[in-house]
Amino acid sequence: QMTPVLEMLEDVADRFSFQMQERGIKPTLFVANGVDSVWIDRDQIDQVLDNLFSNAMKYTPEDGTIAMEARIMEDKMLAISLQDNGIGIPRKDLDRIFERFYRVDKARSRNMGGTGLGLSIAREIVRAHGGTISLQSELGSGTRVTFTLPLQEQGGDGR
Ligand code: ATP
Ligand code: MG
Repeated sequence: QMTPVLEMLEDVADRFSFQMQERGIKPTLFVANGVDSVWIDRDQIDQVLDNLFSNAMKYTPEDGTIAMEARIMEDKMLAISLQDNGIGIPRKDLDRIFERFYRVDKARSRNMGGTGLGLSIAREIVRAHGGTISLQSELGSGTRVTFTLPLQEQGGDGR
């Protein structure tokens, strides 16, 4: 369905507002000029956003920040990114991070809960929408995940 991007991102932050307050984490939201609505399966993209947001929460210490951003790329794709200033991911793990059940270093993940499926499911959903997802991270300074979604309405009349 046609979904207003600003509202969708505000809603994600709202779903985590209690947890964020408890941990002193501050969210920021930036939606660039020209970003309006996007044609998506809202439930599925909410699942992607919840996955990414909960990762950012889990791996960001007290008083961190989580920044969400939406902008339009040259190729008529919408790009949504979530950036945290948490513990980051070691370079050697970056290649495998989207694999099913892959989790960085069992020790640090053990008491965090989770199965290691979040990112692989997020990638499946984004790809099914015709987009891509990528992750950049620096150990000790933070992680940014960006995914794209086509802005043109798909299918319908076969065009
Ligand atoms: P699940 O999402 O199934 O509850 P999970 O969060 O461990 O479990 P993924 O979301 O697939 O699984 O993430 C895989 C691994 O990538 C995590 O275990 C964690 O080590 C690392 N990771 C993901 N996001 C971040 C982040 N924002 N900061 C630091 N590490 C991260
Ligand atoms: Mg996860």
